Amino acid sequence: KEDIEFLKGCLKSYPDFPNKGILFQDIFSLLSQPEAFGKLKKLLVSRAKTVAPQIDVVVGLDSRGFLFGPIIALELGIPFLPVRKKGKLPGKVFTESYQLEYGEDILEMQDGVIKEGQKALIVDDLIATGGTMEAACKLVQRAGGSVSCCLVVIELTELRGREKLVAPVEYLMQY
Ligand code: IMP
Repeated sequence: KEDIEFLKGCLKSYPDFPNKGILFQDIFSLLSQPEAFGKLKKLLVSRAKTVAPQIDVVVGLDSRGFLFGPIIALELGIPFLPVRKKGKLPGKVFTESYQLEYGEDILEMQDGVIKEGQKALIVDDLIATGGTMEAACKLVQRAGGSVSCCLVVIELTELRGREKLVAPVEYLMQY
């Protein structure tokens, strides 16, 4: 609890970025402060251990999920797997499109990286509308896995992203 309050005090937010009316939570402001980054790492790892004791792989989302997913995977001693924007991953990939505020975007995951029936923990910095996380869940399932839990540093509750998802959402901070 104290650590979460400390992190909230360290997190910088920017009104009207990248567009008017959006309050942007800058996760990098936590990484620039070693004490905050240390607490963040400790909290993420312990949360991952408690919520998903039986996970086989950690899946991180392009691009800020790559800051936290690998740390968690390494601590748990299990594989880290990336979900990336279209055209970034080599070899055969699964593809899933999802809606953005304007238009759509595409996420991909490599074929063969998840073994049939493996349980995944999906990690990202922030969940807003949940569209990104929903597409990632679909990719994990199409790749043969199942999603045990989605873990984010920040959940923006007003946008009700978690309602799009079947898997439970765990967060460190809510706004
Ligand atoms: P969603 O698909 O609407 O849930 O948006 C989540 C994605 O947008 C995540 O990959 C986030 O990195 C990014 N995102 C949305 N809002 C913010 C923010 O305020 N700060 C940092 N990233 C954000």
